[in-house]
Amino acid sequence: ATPTALLVGTGRGAQMGILIKGPEVLESSRTVDTVVLDKTGTVTTGSMRLTAIHSIGAPETEPEPVTDADHRLLRLAGALESYSEHPIARAVTAAARETHGERDGSLPEVEGFRNHEGRGVSGQVQGRDVWVGRRSFLAEQDVDLPDEVLAMCRRVEREGRTPVLVAVDSAFAGVLIVADAVKETSAEAVSQLKELGLTPVLLTGDNTGTAERVAEEVGIAEVIAEALPEDKVDAVKRLQGKGCTVAMVGDGVNDAAALAQADLGIAMGTGTDVAIDAADITIIRGDLRSVADAVRLSRKTFTTIR
Ligand code: ADP
Ligand code: MG
Repeated sequence: ATPTALLVGTGRGAQMGILIKGPEVLESSRTVDTVVLDKTGTVTTGSMRLTAIHSIGAPETEPEPVTDADHRLLRLAGALESYSEHPIARAVTAAARETHGERDGSLPEVEGFRNHEGRGVSGQVQGRDVWVGRRSFLAEQDVDLPDEVLAMCRRVEREGRTPVLVAVDSAFAGVLIVADAVKETSAEAVSQLKELGLTPVLLTGDNTGTAERVAEEVGIAEVIAEALPEDKVDAVKRLQGKGCTVAMVGDGVNDAAALAQADLGIAMGTGTDVAIDAADITIIRGDLRSVADAVRLSRKTFTTIR
């Protein structure tokens, strides 16, 4: 394509809500054959809600009035999560403020807060050592997880929801269950990508059960789950090693390295600045159908004018 054609293509993209960093980006968009999609915030809305609380000893039925133990659990976890920007953290903090905050919505103070990217958070709340995060994160801290808790987690995951585990002073204290919804346009976007001959892959730090449920809902057959941020880069490299030309679509801090590694990095305009900076293209509205639009645009740019 001539430089003028590339400029025209880039301009058309901008009109469609597709911000292309440089004219050369259109070339890589044309050759892509695999589209790796992050789950939370990319395929799903990323605005999570707390849907249930199971503190130790609390019955498993829901929804129902929280027990005192549930109150304490949510307050401790909410205080800690108020220091994190993660969609899970926002859901837990909002619920804690709503139900258990002081009149001004404030939560107990936290000392020694630590964010463990892609795993969870930790710190001291009211003199107690609190850990909140995924199953393996608590297991790594030598927290004993009862079999019935693991069974419940698997059940929750199969429903497409995410269990968030809490430990207080090294002992398992309960599970908070969060969920977000698949974006209305995601299933159609995936079918458009498939029509363009592209293979969609779902890549997420979330657990396998939840990931498979979401993948099924939007029509993705290939799932890579429980991926830490560094695993996301490796997953992209592995696909490239098999000869795939990979577009990676993501929104989070944890996607940035994978976006940079991919042949084409696409960030959600609704996502973090770190992701947007690492990407070649930004989809302003966060609508996945724009990914298919971008591929169509680049193909058109290269076939009409030579
Ligand atoms: P995704 O790839 O879906 O965007 P992340 O890589 O950000 O997910 O996180 C992976 C998993 O780590 C989450 O599903 C969750 O179980 C856990 N996790 C990460 N951050 C937090 C947090 N602040 N609080 C609780 N759990 C967290
Ligand atoms: Mg994400």
